[in-house]
Amino acid sequence: MQREPLLHLVTRLGHAFTARGMGAHARMLRVYFLALRHGLADSRNAVRVSLTEEAVLEWLRTLRVPPFDAAEEGGYRVQPRGEGCGTCAARGETPTVITDAVFPGGARMRCRSCASVWLEEDAPAQKHEGRHGVP
Ligand SMILES: [Zn+2]
Repeated sequence: MQREPLLHLVTRLGHAFTARGMGAHARMLRVYFLALRHGLADSRNAVRVSLTEEAVLEWLRTLRVPPFDAAEEGGYRVQPRGEGCGTCAARGETPTVITDAVFPGGARMRCRSCASVWLEEDAPAQKHEGRHGVP
């Protein structure tokens, strides 16, 4: 369906939700309406978003966006790839470590044994300047 007719139908559904006191549905539909109107839906007019304040803060820490790049602000420590859980290693324990999230340039790791969380960054990409004549 084209966007304009769909927006019209979404508005009518919103009125129906509101008339029946279905506030939560109406609020969700309002977010959908805004995303649709601003061209943020995919090719099937779908909008899939599930974000929380907690998730936003987690991503700020994960991508080390200031001030969340500092431990004082709850930032995660950064360690080399594959080093494992330092907390468990210090206790002489063998932890179970999982990859919590991956992002371009690194990963957020989580220890299932002691609940520690840290970041592992990929080594900086080697530059091949001039090898193939590419500047
Ligand atoms: Zn651990």
